[in-house]
Amino acid sequence: MSITRKNPGPPVVKGAIAQRGADSYAIVPRLPSGIITADQLEALARAIRQYEIPIAKLTSGQRIALVGIKAADVPAVWAGLGMGEGRAVKHGVHYVQACPGTAACGYGQQDSLGLGARLEELFNGLDLPGKVKVGISGCPMCCGESYVRDIGLVGRKNGWTVIFGGNAGGRPRVGDELASGLTADEALELVGRALAHYRDNAKKCQRTARFVEACGIESVRTALGLEETAKGPARQD
Ligand code: SF4
Repeated sequence: MSITRKNPGPPVVKGAIAQRGADSYAIVPRLPSGIITADQLEALARAIRQYEIPIAKLTSGQRIALVGIKAADVPAVWAGLGMGEGRAVKHGVHYVQACPGTAACGYGQQDSLGLGARLEELFNGLDLPGKVKVGISGCPMCCGESYVRDIGLVGRKNGWTVIFGGNAGGRPRVGDELASGLTADEALELVGRALAHYRDNAKKCQRTARFVEACGIESVRTALGLEETAKGPARQD
């Protein structure tokens, strides 16, 4: 375990986030699209009991945070879990949340869980100017909160719609649609280009919503080689 002291503040513990109070840390295992196996659930339960972790919290990003771990226990907890580390502080793709889509929901029009797994695998670990949250919905009812995530995808009968620049925080912003009617491969390719443009042009710590507000969505569309925003009648879902 690497512990370094900073003044002021608690010691930095690799793979953990300092919490309120003395010697209290949280960890967030990687759980793409909120999918979890029986083995992972058992490992989590074992760790919670063995290390007397006081809080196991389902997060809004469809992950499980273990809170209240002693610094000295952090490496052993990670080793026992055998799970990857979800991003919680470092900039980049923090999480991909996805609704059940065609895998389990009667309204589903596209495979949101499948796309979520592919997207998380492709972009996990990518360094970006700010944190990026992704919401994927299998139909226009948008249970994956796609319009208020940095990257949103919505499944429709004719394919995927890609949305960019949404935010659900204190300065909420509805994201802009970049393109519709895409195959899963086309949607992933466009997400990759949008993230690369954001990486190369946004200021440090600037979230996608603030980036779009600063430069304008039309400049993003132009940089990505997309046509201007359609000004036609409202879409019929
Ligand atoms: S967004 Fe649509 S497909 Fe996904 S859970 Fe909601 S109703 Fe079902």
